[in-house]
Amino acid sequence: VYKRQHIGIAVNSLKTSIPLYERLLGSNCYKTEQVSGEQVDTAFFLQNGAKIELLESIDPNGVIAKFIQKKGEGLHHIAFEVPDIYAEMERLKKEGFTLLNETPKSGADNKLVCFVHPKDANGVLIELCQSRR
Ligand code: ZN
Repeated sequence: VYKRQHIGIAVNSLKTSIPLYERLLGSNCYKTEQVSGEQVDTAFFLQNGAKIELLESIDPNGVIAKFIQKKGEGLHHIAFEVPDIYAEMERLKKEGFTLLNETPKSGADNKLVCFVHPKDANGVLIELCQSRR
C-alpha cells in the first residue's frame, strides 16, 4: 500500500524552471534544498496534494546531468512513500527487483530513499521513501 509522494523532473536550470512551473501550476515553489549525496539542487511544488520535485544537477557528471545528456529534460522518477523502507526493500529483492542502492540513502525532505531499476518497471525509475523518525 504505497502512498504517492512526488514526481521528479530533471531540468537544466532551476532558475528558469521554477518560474515556469510557478506559472504552470499557479502556485509558488515552497522549498528548495540541495541534496549533496545525489549532486542535485531540488525545488518542490504542491498542487492539490500532488507534489512535484524539480532536479538540477550541481555536478556535470552527476546522475541528473547524465540523464539529461541521454534523454533530455523530463520525467525522471516517481516516488512512493512506504511505512518501512527496510522491509519494503527486502520484499522487492525477494520479488526479483533490482535495487540501485543496497541500503537506504539520504534524500530531500529528511527522507530515507531507495531506487528501483527502471528496467524492472517498464522504463520508469521508482523511488521509495520513508520519513525519518
Ligand atoms: Zn524524488
